Amino acid sequence: MKILANDGIDAKGQAALEAMGCTVLTEKVSQDALAGFIQNENIDGLLVRSATTARKELIDACPNLKFIGRGGVGIDNIDAVYAREKGVDVFNTPASSSASVAELVMAMMFASNRFLYQAGGAMPVNGEETFEVLKKNYGKGKEVKGKTLGIVGFGRIGMSLAEYALGCGMRVLFFDRSKEEETVTLSINGSPLEVNLNVSSFEEVLRVSDFISLHVPKQPNGSSVIGSAEFALMKKNAVVINTSRGGTINETELIEALDNGVIAGACLDVFENEPRPNAALLKHSKIITTPHIGAATAEAQERIGLEIAENVKRIMDAN
Ligand code: NAD
Repeated sequence: MKILANDGIDAKGQAALEAMGCTVLTEKVSQDALAGFIQNENIDGLLVRSATTARKELIDACPNLKFIGRGGVGIDNIDAVYAREKGVDVFNTPASSSASVAELVMAMMFASNRFLYQAGGAMPVNGEETFEVLKKNYGKGKEVKGKTLGIVGFGRIGMSLAEYALGCGMRVLFFDRSKEEETVTLSINGSPLEVNLNVSSFEEVLRVSDFISLHVPKQPNGSSVIGSAEFALMKKNAVVINTSRGGTINETELIEALDNGVIAGACLDVFENEPRPNAALLKHSKIITTPHIGAATAEAQERIGLEIAENVKRIMDAN
């Protein structure tokens, strides 16, 4: 099999593919030139992360393509239904990144409660001259322990986040439109500790939580899950966190809610208009932003690479 990993692949995943006899190309081909490259180079499989798209036109232009693999969870950058109709295998690596995304959310909650983002930005610029002023401005932190975390979307990442948050002494509530209850298993020095959680109503999660973290897929028609009506139900000190998909929080209504003091803050890893997010979000003093790095850890990328290799083996075995 000749494979183009157009958004890169972890070294161990690449080695596993090569050990199976595959040739792996990792040069980046521009979106415009991609279909031509796949045809001219007789590529059997295309691997993407979130940057490269595989739309209907590309699938039509590459009739010999056997598979499209997404290193990550969301496959909204692939016309998956159409590809499968055309006999192209489409797979993703859903389980590999959950812990990494959950850890980013924990980091955001700690950073938010202790102004790490703002203080970290101000110290190199003004720390020498105005240390005492910065100390006064940012010395109003809060503990995460004892606070309530409301998780919206209790799938792989939501449940992984619950493990971390429960371990830190937070109270955890969840809302998921297709779940009634779930058991989260914490590992305490290697010993499992099971915690049963029952679903709460969406309204209750919004009303009582100090942090509200979204872990839903991209919604049909790109509709938002949280907008003005939901912000209005939240506590004034609430901080919303989105590491799921751009558009699940209405960005314009988020800025309004922050500017009008309806809620206290937001942490965003994903944006409606990636890779050129709205600058008003990036520059807002009450928003912590990161450039879609939820799954960007060494461990997650290694697991993703190996999960890709397993999928390619499945496809090779079936052929
Ligand atoms: P999952 O499929 O395991 O869980 C999603 C859950 O959301 C499901 O249980 C589903 O029932 C629920 N849900 C869907 N719509 C809902 C709604 N409107 N209200 C309430 N619940 C709803 O998915 P996952 O693996 O946990 O991933 C969650 C999100 O994280 C996806 O959007 C994925 O693309 C994103 N993600 C982001 C990064 C990143 O780098 N930031 C990395 C990996 C995944």
